[in-house]
Amino acid sequence: MLSSAGNRVLTFTFQFSPSLKFSAKTHKEFRPRSHNSSIMNSAFRSSPREAQVNDARFGGTITLEEWQGWGCVSPVPPMVTEVIQDLKLLENNIDAHMVFGGNGGKLQGDFKIQEDKKHRAKYQALGDSEKKFQFFSARQIACRLLGSRGYLCQKCWLPMEDCMCSNIKPCSLWHGIRFWLYMHPKDFLRQNNTGKLLWQLFGVQAATLCLYGISEDEKIMWNAFKDAGKAKVWCLYPNQNIVPRTVQDAFSCQSSADLECTLSSTTRDRPLNFVLIDGTWSNSAAMFRRLKERAKLVWGEEDLPCISLAAGASAMHKLRPQPSWDRTCTAAAAIGVLEELQLLPVCSSHGLDKQAKAVEDALVVLLEALTARRLRMGRSITRKVRHTRNIC
Ligand SMILES: [Zn+2]
Repeated sequence: MLSSAGNRVLTFTFQFSPSLKFSAKTHKEFRPRSHNSSIMNSAFRSSPREAQVNDARFGGTITLEEWQGWGCVSPVPPMVTEVIQDLKLLENNIDAHMVFGGNGGKLQGDFKIQEDKKHRAKYQALGDSEKKFQFFSARQIACRLLGSRGYLCQKCWLPMEDCMCSNIKPCSLWHGIRFWLYMHPKDFLRQNNTGKLLWQLFGVQAATLCLYGISEDEKIMWNAFKDAGKAKVWCLYPNQNIVPRTVQDAFSCQSSADLECTLSSTTRDRPLNFVLIDGTWSNSAAMFRRLKERAKLVWGEEDLPCISLAAGASAMHKLRPQPSWDRTCTAAAAIGVLEELQLLPVCSSHGLDKQAKAVEDALVVLLEALTARRLRMGRSITRKVRHTRNIC
């Protein structure tokens, strides 16, 4: 947990239990979730499966249609294509098939042993650290993609037999807001990820996926930030160096004239941009650092405007009691932003409360789908769960 007493910590605790009790602590701040978890690893693991890399539909690589089908907005990153081609080449050269297991992105068996050697050698050979980092991201994404192909629904990232898409009701987000899901590769195509709900609901232009370390994605995001200007970019992150600002602080401390100005210049082309860091708490520090470094390049100062959710009366307490998650989930952060903006008189007419409710409903749908899957697979939802990272 974030221990600094001065920070408001947004923490939701959902437990698997017969009574489906729900609790929400009152002092809250959004922060990416912790990494101590692993209900995912036990609850939603599937049997090892061979990658469908030779599927004729994909021609041994990845098409734009498939790439964007998973929620991405960028062109297919050449580095991801290269990794996939290298994997395929290796499969042709050695007598072992590519087999994935666990949560979809983990190679297994003999192929894994061979591939480990190969990718480590490639990594070492890359000169600069940025290239190494990009390769690291691209490889993880390529593996998750190959391990999920033909197995997960592209839209909801659940196994096809548990697809929940028909229960999601799309909704329009007020055009003055754009969410960015800055997602760690390890969270890409995770069944329990909640960031994906945002673009399922609002569309990829209103809630956009940006994969950490994928330069094509990061470029799109930063171009949008440059166009919008620094005053319209906010990262939901507890910035430990300064007193955290809430949505109220950030937007109501301005004089009404300024605020009118900020919001009246908020148009479809120049929305308020909110970055939600979609990764574990341990990964998020590096993700935030990368955002700050880029901010320095773009705006000449490292300070990236951050906000925290006040959220005592967050939407979440109204959520119907549901099984299990702990800490914050990414979609809950979006709910918090929408609800807190709704409280500002200048924002009250944009229907943000209804949009927050739509996210809430989608979260419930996801939880029900995950619970149904767990039950179908013969896993109790009443079992004492030590690690509660079920949804993130
Ligand atoms: Zn689906």
